[in-house]
Amino acid sequence: MKLISAIVPCYNEEENVPYFYEEFMKNKAFFDTHDLTYELIYVDDGSSDGTVGAVKKLIAQDKKVKLISFSRNFGKESAMYAGMQHAKGDYVAIMDADLQDPPSLLPEMYEWLQQGYECAATRRVDRKGEPPIRSFFARKFYALMKRFSSADIVDGARDYRLMSRKFVNAVLSLKEVNRFSKGIFGWVGYKTKWVEFENVERRHGETKWSFWKLFVYAVEGIVDFTTVPLTIAAFLGVVLCLFAFVMLLFVWIRAMLYGDPVAGWPSMVCIMLLVAGVQMFFLGIIGEYLAKAYQELKARPIYLVQELVDEEESGTDPENS
Ligand code: UDP
Ligand code: MG
Repeated sequence: MKLISAIVPCYNEEENVPYFYEEFMKNKAFFDTHDLTYELIYVDDGSSDGTVGAVKKLIAQDKKVKLISFSRNFGKESAMYAGMQHAKGDYVAIMDADLQDPPSLLPEMYEWLQQGYECAATRRVDRKGEPPIRSFFARKFYALMKRFSSADIVDGARDYRLMSRKFVNAVLSLKEVNRFSKGIFGWVGYKTKWVEFENVERRHGETKWSFWKLFVYAVEGIVDFTTVPLTIAAFLGVVLCLFAFVMLLFVWIRAMLYGDPVAGWPSMVCIMLLVAGVQMFFLGIIGEYLAKAYQELKARPIYLVQELVDEEESGTDPENS
């Protein structure tokens, strides 16, 4: 009997929790015929609505449902990490609570793992129902990452994937605090099968990703998975120095030949502003890397648990978890 663990990060998903369970359980027949059992780990990422209560209601009917509840909102990356740490399955799936990751794909993904893939990952082939500027910037981001990062980061890839134990252990062995999973999944390598599906709009509620949050996320991806911006900074520095050197020669020779009338100070101001701007920009970029290094050095925990409910394991133990 093999175990499939499904991890469901939830941030204010009260209405979606029972729907998700219902959809997920449609795979029950498949599990039974393939000698599989399941555990369903809801990770409550510091929700302020009734998510915890909704999960506990499910636990009352099905002990295979588990809950990890955080002390505050740590973000989806932390929720996925916590889920993977607690998952005991031979196979581990990560799925959104809003049913944008159709549980009906699981059997197909499971088949791919039987064929020797270590991971079956999903990507959506369209971005239906998404604002056009958001799609535009998302595309640009993936194009940029494809060029400059060694990790294979795929456009349209969702976090929805079914992984083998080997793959999960590899992901868990990356202990970094700044977790950019899309990059981490690509970085660990292994044979990954891409399963494509059409975008499904979320069942209840609103997406938690504002444009600004996505922008910060993209910057994080860049800083975490490539140092190319630093190389560009150094390269531009060299180019500007060469340019300045040629200009210096030019000005010097001209002064020798024609004397030195004071002129061209507006252009001088422009040049100074330009160079100062470029310097500030790259100082900012270097600062980003430095800040990341500082965060990694502090090595704060990736999440803190408020409550862990696993009735199969040890019964409810809200105090010492
Ligand atoms: N989520 C989370 N913590 C957060 C934000 C989101 O655990 O801080 C969960 C959320 O409950 C959902 C999944 O991550 O299950 C994806 O979030 P969302 O649907 O808002 O993102 P989108 O599908 O729009 O990319
Ligand atoms: Mg969603």
